[in-house]
Amino acid sequence: MIYADNAATTKMSDAAVEAMLAAVRENYGNPSSLYSTGQRAKEALEEARRTIAAVIGAEPREILFTSGGSESDNQAILSAAAEGRRNGKTHILSSAFEHHAVLHTLEKLKKEGFDITLLDVHENGIVRPEEVKAAIREDTCLVTIMYANNEIGTIQPIREIGAICRERGVLFHTDAVQAVGHIPVHTKEDGVDLLSASAHKFHGPKGVGFLYARKGVRLTNLIEGGAQENGKRAGTENVPGIVAMAAALQEADAQMRQGAAALAEKRDRLIRGLKRIPHAALNGDETRRLPGNVNFCFEGIEGESLLLLLDDKGIEASSGSACTSGSLDPSHVLLAIGRVHDVAHGSLRLSIGEELTDADLDYIIQSVAETVEYLRSFSPIWRDLESGKKPHLL
Ligand SMILES: *Cc1c(COP(=O)(O)O)cnc(C)c1O
Repeated sequence: MIYADNAATTKMSDAAVEAMLAAVRENYGNPSSLYSTGQRAKEALEEARRTIAAVIGAEPREILFTSGGSESDNQAILSAAAEGRRNGKTHILSSAFEHHAVLHTLEKLKKEGFDITLLDVHENGIVRPEEVKAAIREDTCLVTIMYANNEIGTIQPIREIGAICRERGVLFHTDAVQAVGHIPVHTKEDGVDLLSASAHKFHGPKGVGFLYARKGVRLTNLIEGGAQENGKRAGTENVPGIVAMAAALQEADAQMRQGAAALAEKRDRLIRGLKRIPHAALNGDETRRLPGNVNFCFEGIEGESLLLLLDDKGIEASSGSACTSGSLDPSHVLLAIGRVHDVAHGSLRLSIGEELTDADLDYIIQSVAETVEYLRSFSPIWRDLESGKKPHLL
């Protein structure tokens, strides 16, 4: 089996599994308990906080453990909105291709009277800093732009946007779920006030993540109860998940720093191979993208059919269209970069890890090429395109 869906989730690393098992077996105490079993768990928790803080250039007390990326996004945005409301500022700036954890939270705020501006991400899938600058208003309380897109992998100019927000005194949140552990992220150098991350996207366990909140940024609780996490997130801490997350991040960060170039070469081998398929196009900027992300549209086919046939050939990947959510709408990300509905339906995302060999990559290229050709052989849309009844768009 070739697993090429790391943007959806990753396999836990051995280091993460071992850290988790040790915590489950030995550090089973409640970190709030005063006896030694509890205090050992507390120490493991704080050690994990220090490890994570060091990797992203933060202070340990700026790291808040959560249940994952979605919760972190919700808490960051709702906290900034509450602060904005207190100051009479109810405008929020974001982009059209954010994750639904961000977009749906913004929709909720819109119903509560907030004014939401979603910036264009253009054909290359990258927000333009000058457009961020131009769109910030006197009443803007938050800019929230993702670090790297989860579907097309494009990396945003976070540092430039951070500098603009700092200059204008506007809070800046970034959903860095796809970035942390995959590309260098440094909260201070990037100038972010709030940052979301999720362990299962960097070989840690599911259901655990963190929110970075710069010292001085006021947080609103999503969960009320005990005084855990500085009183900002109640509930007995997920110690096994948190220590596993720290172990996974430390390893992912070290591996990324020495192996990113090699992974990008594998990505580019895939891109070169898939580009040879007729009427196919890469989605998103060719170079400013995550080292493991490849996303293509193929004219005249359905992404879901392609996925099912690739699965039969032992290749596990993903398509942008949201058929799993029961809707036939194509991906909002592909629409945001200007793909029309028909084209956006024929998409394929391969998010690879460094374990794939060149032989694996060549097998993927060959399998995709064969499958696309096969699907086109009985596609009515393809027939219309080939007969000239409809113009080719790719
Ligand atoms: C996966 C993902 C999330 C959600 O994270 P969970 O931990 O699954 O809640 C949010 N944003 C982006 C960009 C993601 O890729």
